[in-house]
Amino acid sequence: MRTIVAKFGGSSLADADQIRKAAAILRADPARRFVVVSAPGKRCREDTKITDLLYRCYELAAAGADFSKPFGTLQARYDAIVRELGADYDLDAELAAIRAQLLSAPQRDYTASRGEYLNAGILASFLGVPFLDAAQTVRFDADGRLDQAATDALLGAALAGVERAVLPGFYGSMPDGTIRTFSRGGSDVTGSLAARAARADVYENWTDVSGVLFTDPRIFPEAAPIAAMTYRELRELSYMGASVLHEDAVFPVRSAGIPINIRNTNRPDDPGTMILPALNDVQPTGAVTGVAGRRGFTSVFVEKSMMNAEVGFGARLLAIFSEHGISFEHCPTGIDTMSVVVSSAQIAGKETAVADQIRRELRPDALTIEPGLAMIAVVGHGMVSARGVAARIFGALAEAGVNIRMIDQGSSELNIIVGVNETDFEPAIRAISASCR
Ligand code: ASP
Repeated sequence: MRTIVAKFGGSSLADADQIRKAAAILRADPARRFVVVSAPGKRCREDTKITDLLYRCYELAAAGADFSKPFGTLQARYDAIVRELGADYDLDAELAAIRAQLLSAPQRDYTASRGEYLNAGILASFLGVPFLDAAQTVRFDADGRLDQAATDALLGAALAGVERAVLPGFYGSMPDGTIRTFSRGGSDVTGSLAARAARADVYENWTDVSGVLFTDPRIFPEAAPIAAMTYRELRELSYMGASVLHEDAVFPVRSAGIPINIRNTNRPDDPGTMILPALNDVQPTGAVTGVAGRRGFTSVFVEKSMMNAEVGFGARLLAIFSEHGISFEHCPTGIDTMSVVVSSAQIAGKETAVADQIRRELRPDALTIEPGLAMIAVVGHGMVSARGVAARIFGALAEAGVNIRMIDQGSSELNIIVGVNETDFEPAIRAISASCR
């Protein structure tokens, strides 16, 4: 029998109506045996996430202040959920335990984790499915890093012993038993760990969009969901700013060869986006899979004639950046030129020191530091075999009056990265996206 791990995000479980939708999705396919949940998220734009209310409670409690206001707000939200679902769940007892903890010895991660803990308990009793606490199955080491091997073993054994289960996302425990959370959005990671441990056929990630969109819809509203892409394409797009999954959620399933299917709880019939291990699993629909970009880059341009013949020039140049604690993001080179593109935030305040050291150690003919750069990645395995993609992209940019400041075609031919002025960022994304349709 197939096994699916279905993870539902905060907006998919924000109130009783949303939870009913999730339950219907689970009932629609018996292979959806294991469910990982987030805490209830926002019901509308002005709403507050339960996790944020919990952090607020903790901050007040840790300062010895009265936390009854945020606590009352979250209590009312869970009350409504339990009542409207008619779930057989002892919410009062659970909330009393959390309140007692906050009053006696407030712990940040423990408090934050209770959003997922309560939501998983409520969903488990509503579905009549066992609740499996992540405190017993997801392990961190003494330094607070995920212990992947221990988690795989514990979670694998626990899931092998049950037909179905609901697990809270976002947290696990330290060797001494205290609760530790992942960074924000970490329920995605728990879902991925569960999919790996259960040797699932698919990791379904249910959210409020029908998949990963071609580009940012706030810039290009016509952006449609991508039907399928590879893990490498996902990595390129996420790195360049597309927000899809928690970064750490990719590795556990990717290394186990398990596909991720991003789905929409509000439109369960939409197929969503399939993220697949290998290129030949993906039916190429077009040369370009997606477009993403970020502002906030600075380019350090160095020119020196006969640079190509000077052994170790590039290594020494990059070493100067690392000595200043700056990591480089891109590094397009010419025969006698090299540009090192770094995050503006990282180099801020260090420009003169970096430039002086480069001049001193490498004696370049020219050196310029140009801030205000935006980098846009046009990503797609299909670009290797499709003719004219670059011509189309650059033609569209020229037509939109966008000045291209830099071009870097990744050596894998998986992407073309274009550097433009930050002020041209949105027009450039729109022009490229329109040319790829
Ligand atoms: N509830 C946590 C957060 O808001 C984790 C998650 O939803 O994935 O970040």
